[in-house]
Amino acid sequence: PFEVLVIGGGPAGSAAAIYASRKGISTGIAAERFGGQVADTMGIENLISVPYTEGPKLVAAMEQHVTEYDVDIMNLQRAEKLIPASQTGGLHEVRLANGASLKARSVILSTGARWRQMGVPGEEEYRNKGVAYCPHCDGPLFKGKRVAVIGGGNSGVEAAIDLAGIVGHVTLIEFGAEMRADDVLQKKLRSLKNVEIITSGQTTEITGENGKVNGLNYTDRNTGESHHVALEGVFVQIGLVPNTEWLKGDIELSQHGEIVVNDRNETSIPGVFAAGDATTVPYKQIVISMGEGSKAALSAFDFLIRNSAP
Ligand code: FAD
Repeated sequence: PFEVLVIGGGPAGSAAAIYASRKGISTGIAAERFGGQVADTMGIENLISVPYTEGPKLVAAMEQHVTEYDVDIMNLQRAEKLIPASQTGGLHEVRLANGASLKARSVILSTGARWRQMGVPGEEEYRNKGVAYCPHCDGPLFKGKRVAVIGGGNSGVEAAIDLAGIVGHVTLIEFGAEMRADDVLQKKLRSLKNVEIITSGQTTEITGENGKVNGLNYTDRNTGESHHVALEGVFVQIGLVPNTEWLKGDIELSQHGEIVVNDRNETSIPGVFAAGDATTVPYKQIVISMGEGSKAALSAFDFLIRNSAP
């Protein structure tokens, strides 16, 4: 058995594995796809002290850093079930899709999340070519340009307010008859001069030319009429879905499916910790996931020295 078993190989899991292994304890990391969301990212400009890098390059660097230590890396392994230890300090079990089962005295869950997609023509084709999901990451790329934000929940409206300070013009498109964001955010959004709000709008297509977004089409759900908006960027903000379906019923999750953690990354199960986008930690970013993974490993180490047999 491992002393620390990390599930997920994104920034959170990589950081957790490095921190755990540096304590000299046996460490394993199982990931469906090493690198996580970073592998799907183009330019990264907000990893502090690295002014510019690209997703695949950062993934290679993370993997290289992990392999500097004595970490058992199990790539292409999907966890399907967590069976918590029957008593504090006992062995937890993680069942994998290939039928194998891993045991560990402490587990760090860092299975990340995925952005919900609209599933309309052009979305996949123009991903990273005008279609974006993270305003904190890609907002500055659209300085002075026209963008749309899809979704009028809290994240969509926050994104629209944020972007309005950077870009030239923001069109927010909400599917329902009303935005669902908190009133204070809606009020702030309505006060901004360079924002247009469209409700009852169903985005039907992202259009582009020469490999770049040049607009979108939406249907007015009240009249059935179709409209075109000319713009350079589309931020899709219809939800970030944590990869925690496999944990349902075994650990406390928030109403959004995030693993509930406290400020020491402890979950509802003693000896099971969690970090990064899969958790209730606010703000989902690479640098934050790395910090959270490190914290989770230090908490796991603390748990082990308090709960292992003398
Ligand atoms: P993830 O990166 O999601 O990693 C999750 C890991 O868990 C993966 O290895 C995955 O394969 C694995 N996994 C999932 N389910 C299972 C399972 N059942 N069993 C085993 N393994 C599993 N952030 C920034 O800071 N700057 C940016 O510029 C930036 N740009 C982005 C651009 C895009 C297109 C996207 C999608 C995200 C971007 N982000 C950016 C956000 C950033 O990528 C995430 O915040 C960060 O990757 C989260 O790290 P994580 O380790 O928590 O999860």
